[in-house]
Amino acid sequence: KGSDGLYTVSLIEGDGIGPEISQSVKDIFSAAGAPIKWEPVDVTPMLVDGKTTIAKETIESINRNKVALKGPLATPIGKGHVSLNLTLRRTFNLFANVRPCRSIEGYKTPYDNVDTVLIRENTEGEYSGIEHVVVDGVVQSIKLITRDASERVLRYAFQYAEDIGRPKVRAVHKATIMKMSDGLFLGTAKDVAKDFPNVEFDAELLDNTCLKMTTDPAPYNDKVLVMPNLYGDILSDMCAGLIGGLGLTPSGNIGDECSIFEAVHGSAPDIAGKALANPTALLLSSIMMLRHMELNEHAAKIESAIFATLAEGKTLTGDLGGKAKTHEYAGAIISRL
Ligand code: NAD
Repeated sequence: KGSDGLYTVSLIEGDGIGPEISQSVKDIFSAAGAPIKWEPVDVTPMLVDGKTTIAKETIESINRNKVALKGPLATPIGKGHVSLNLTLRRTFNLFANVRPCRSIEGYKTPYDNVDTVLIRENTEGEYSGIEHVVVDGVVQSIKLITRDASERVLRYAFQYAEDIGRPKVRAVHKATIMKMSDGLFLGTAKDVAKDFPNVEFDAELLDNTCLKMTTDPAPYNDKVLVMPNLYGDILSDMCAGLIGGLGLTPSGNIGDECSIFEAVHGSAPDIAGKALANPTALLLSSIMMLRHMELNEHAAKIESAIFATLAEGKTLTGDLGGKAKTHEYAGAIISRL
């Protein structure tokens, strides 16, 4: 927080529709009087000694501000880069990915009562990138699970559950098959649970979770689900599907020091530059960011303006069946503020 009373946040506008949806966030925050000063940063990937990295100034900005908002980044294909999202995750040690999915009034989906919160381990599991060819036609990929990384994300999940007043944590796993790796995750969960006597703990097999959640999502509305990386990646998209897709789902990548909030969708190159993008996911990510910064009143004010605009259904973007341009939808939110 600066002497002007404003909090500086690093802003990665992103590629494709990124600049358009970032503009909506900036306009809406300014209309709402949110005490945020944006510091735009560049994340053009650079190869240094064969490793993908980003500019020093960007790393310094995020380390200084501790909080960043990020638009979608197009993953360069076939240039020897690892994904920039992975680079950011590794650079800032963003160990937990928090993905809430809540049904949105005004956008009809098979269920209108979805309210899930999923926390995904963000650094290891099948996504450790340890793969090799044994002999031609035979490849091994190693799933890495450590007690340290499991404990870190599990502690975060229990604390988060307590903080948001949703004191039930469920670990999702396949320890019946992956006895050692998921077994370690599950065992660590049971240990961590002992340190949170006010939080109820149980566990469920991933396949069972998928079956039950798509049959009736309501029993998940009072829980925080926590799980290893791959399961979280897939299950969180399934939850997004239940509320109408990736255009509406926010996320937060949480680290020890820094956190980066981002929409779940990509850069949508097919509609970029045409003012057709829906900024809701990035907006809801920026609201998660405000809550993370304990600016709860500002978060609630902007959030209710967004939900009211969606519920009214008059000024919706094309993906939600409307005809409004990105800035027209943002304008409707601003007029409510
Ligand atoms: P995408 O999410 O960009 O697009 C999928 C479909 O959804 C497209 O038809 C697109 O028009 C639509 N869409 C997405 N966001 C929208 C929005 N806000 N409003 C309206 N419509 C929206 O997925 P993709 O096409 O597979 O990926 C495009 C690029 O984005 C790739 O380079 C990919 O690597 C990257 N990507 C980045 C992230 C990230 O930065 N977190 C996530 C996923 C994909």
